[in-house]
Amino acid sequence: MIRFFILLLSITTLFASQVQRYRWANGETYLVFLQKNNLPTRDLYYNLDKDDQRLTEEMRTGVHYQILRDNNGTIEQILLPLNDELQIHLYKEGDNYKFEAIPIISETKTEAFHTTITSSPMYNILKETGSKKLAQIFISSFKNSLNFKNDIRKGDELVMIYDQKYRLGHPFSMPVLKAAMIEMRKKRHYIYRNKDERYYNEKGNEVEGFLLARPVRGARISSYFTKRRYHPVLHKWKAHLGIDYAARRGTPVRAAGSGRIIYAARMGSYGNLIKIRHADGYETRYAHLKSFRRGIKRGKYVKKGQVIAYVGSTGRSTGPHLHFELRKRGRAINPLRVVQVTTKKLKGKEYKEFVKLKKKYDKELEFHLNSDEKFKKTPPFQNMCYVHLLTKNDNEHNNSY
Ligand SMILES: [Zn+2]
Repeated sequence: MIRFFILLLSITTLFASQVQRYRWANGETYLVFLQKNNLPTRDLYYNLDKDDQRLTEEMRTGVHYQILRDNNGTIEQILLPLNDELQIHLYKEGDNYKFEAIPIISETKTEAFHTTITSSPMYNILKETGSKKLAQIFISSFKNSLNFKNDIRKGDELVMIYDQKYRLGHPFSMPVLKAAMIEMRKKRHYIYRNKDERYYNEKGNEVEGFLLARPVRGARISSYFTKRRYHPVLHKWKAHLGIDYAARRGTPVRAAGSGRIIYAARMGSYGNLIKIRHADGYETRYAHLKSFRRGIKRGKYVKKGQVIAYVGSTGRSTGPHLHFELRKRGRAINPLRVVQVTTKKLKGKEYKEFVKLKKKYDKELEFHLNSDEKFKKTPPFQNMCYVHLLTKNDNEHNNSY
């Protein structure tokens, strides 16, 4: 039976309890956070199983979290978002505090933004939407194909269509660009997100490419990436933020991309771990290694495909396998989604489907290009929180606010 919970809007004056929003400080750890707030580290950390303990390592600098206190200032609940789907919920029950991982319930809206460039795409998007994230997704999607610096003139237009997740009326998580158009000296350039979740230009050629190699050759994937999954036996929410490759002990592990080794040592439940920093804020991690290849150490530059270590079972691991992670600016992403063998050119049936999708987006882009709607900024945060409540519904999201 899945325990679910209801989101309740709690306003200070009404309920005499107070929700406050904070940002996770740089370098803060979960344990220090507990101590700082006088919360019991035994119940909320040391007594947790290893998987839950590992979840606590997922808190990232700058993430907004919420604390609900009663009118005496006693902490009743805390919500710590781990990614855009799963969060840690700490709550008071009687005299004790409890830990659980619960899904983040959100809704996704498709939105659009259109502007006439007066300075640069970055400047105009930032100024008019107030969203760094929107500027980022726009710029990075076109990055490998266009040169914004030289070829944009005042009066060129840009349009973007994107999906944004909302939680209690507030945008959160990275928006996803669906389609965009930018003029450069009045010549139009397009980009589309295809069904395969890659970006293509109007000709059906892929425009972005971060090339990943398979870290273990010929190995079977024994566990896939998931930001949240309900474990049917343990009856709780978990996440697996990487891909597991089952392979015999001692099988060579290769760098998935060229980059600099920024970590090569033991690290808690990861066991022997290598982290490689790649271009564009990407980082790959290789865990449970038996050993490192000779000469592999922090600071060393490695090439894609180069052997860096050997499969093992160190750290929290039930048998020899490689736990492989891909992160972008600290955020775990599904390696299989980004893995690209070569830059792709759509052909045949795939191309036909793409053209259909493109036509649909072209119409929408055209519509927004010709409309005068203003971008609506979301109002600032106001004492809102998911409050834990307690219904028992099988698989049912209860979305009362
Ligand atoms: Zn794993």
